[in-house]
Amino acid sequence: MYNHNHLANALSHGAANNLASIFIQAGEQGDAISYASFFARSEQMAAALVAAGLEPGDRVAAQIDKTVTALELYMGTILAGGVFLPLNTAYTVKELEYFCGDAEPKVVACDPDRKQAIQDMVGNHAVVWSIAGDGSGDAADARDQHPAGFTAVPRAADDLAAFLYTSGTTGQPKGAMLSNGNLASNASTLAEAWQYKATDCLIHALPIFHIHGLFVAVNITLATGASLIYMKKYQPQAITQAMASASVLMGVPTFYTRLLDHAEFTAEAAQNMRLFVSGSAPLLAETHRQFEARCGHRILERYGMTETGMMSSNPYDGERIAGTVGTPLPGINMRVADNDGKPVPQGERGVVEVKGPNVFQGYWKKPEKTAAEFRADGYFITGDIGLIDDKGYLNIVGRAKDLIISGGLNVYPKEIESLLDKLEGVKESAVIGVPHPDFGEAVIAVLVSHHSHHPSEADIMAQITDDLAKFKQPKKIFWVEELPRNTMAKVQKNLLRADYQDLFAN
Ligand code: AMP
Repeated sequence: MYNHNHLANALSHGAANNLASIFIQAGEQGDAISYASFFARSEQMAAALVAAGLEPGDRVAAQIDKTVTALELYMGTILAGGVFLPLNTAYTVKELEYFCGDAEPKVVACDPDRKQAIQDMVGNHAVVWSIAGDGSGDAADARDQHPAGFTAVPRAADDLAAFLYTSGTTGQPKGAMLSNGNLASNASTLAEAWQYKATDCLIHALPIFHIHGLFVAVNITLATGASLIYMKKYQPQAITQAMASASVLMGVPTFYTRLLDHAEFTAEAAQNMRLFVSGSAPLLAETHRQFEARCGHRILERYGMTETGMMSSNPYDGERIAGTVGTPLPGINMRVADNDGKPVPQGERGVVEVKGPNVFQGYWKKPEKTAAEFRADGYFITGDIGLIDDKGYLNIVGRAKDLIISGGLNVYPKEIESLLDKLEGVKESAVIGVPHPDFGEAVIAVLVSHHSHHPSEADIMAQITDDLAKFKQPKKIFWVEELPRNTMAKVQKNLLRADYQDLFAN
């Protein structure tokens, strides 16, 4: 299907010969949605976008709830040769002003409550469509005015298909430009690596404005003609119940810690499942072990980022090692390198660099930023620090920007966090560097306890002094109720650094 449109062809491949099969188990009205119906409505949506003035390469920005209409808008944009730009629903209208100014979308889809404010902002530069939580609104109305049967606009592998603003915690967000080829190759690589079949049914409880929920979860499903149980949000009870008729769950680490807190999640509840995938943030090795003890499944942890799609994965068949993100996916080259891009010996830390059909085309309108993050030989510098262990598996040690330099010595927060997380009374930890008059930066630890009564600072220090060189030991320990996390479960160390920045000020 859609032969000349590279991505639409890849995403319709799995169901092309079986269009009567189910794509979404229950849509907004509780009805099952077949592939035939989904593609027909996406074609109608593509025709509506073209009628609204969308030309190949134009952006469709979408800050919308998780509905079937939202997926039709995504597929419709691809069929019309447009560039889909999903936006986090948490952004304020003020923040959207930056994104719309930078991306200059031709169509903006939004919640009905925001329509007027966005229309005032974009003036006559863009058409603004509402999409409500039940999928109704301007986009659905526009779609319904057009028949199915839209001829997909030809798109080659190098043509843009989407861009996403990176969740960059400092500076201005950058739009990572992803091509038809980037998304198509990553979907087929993952489908093969994880042995995805048309008979699979995925519990989809991730947001669809992020690479994980849209380009991993939805694209793999479409590419293989599998089905989705499409949930608005994550609820451990609903997820546990859905397992009886599903085979795969993709989640961020908190999905798994919260399932473990849910008594109804048992081996019996999970007996129909074949695969649990975790990514977007580090999964604690302890969670991995507890999960296996509870239900017998070893979570498959994979690693990726907006700019690169998925880069590495623990094996489907073979040893899944807790605390590692596996080996490079087929067709993807990865190296751990020093500051000049020269690979470091196995077992040593360096920056993870990657090259392959998955790697993005650069940052929208930011050629200097793009150039600064690629090596001359084409490798993209991820900014993650990692090491390849003796089994050849990649271990992520942290973000380069989270590296602490104390008294001129490098301190890798993950090393200290791993020790702290194992201590009695410590549920999780975040180790950060804060300004210090003597050391430049001082190491401090922010801890969350299991109990209302937590161990004292002296207790904690006594347990780690033998394991850690003095310069790595936290100078202070703080207890908090919970660590600040963004929607993808990543700990926001920038917020913690801001909270404690004056600690050692004199
Ligand atoms: P994003 O572009 O928002 O998806 O964020 C990508 C970043 O998330 C990566 O550069 C890593 O720092 C982090 N990340 C993703 N998956 C993992 C993982 N399995 N373990 C550790 N960090 C991860």
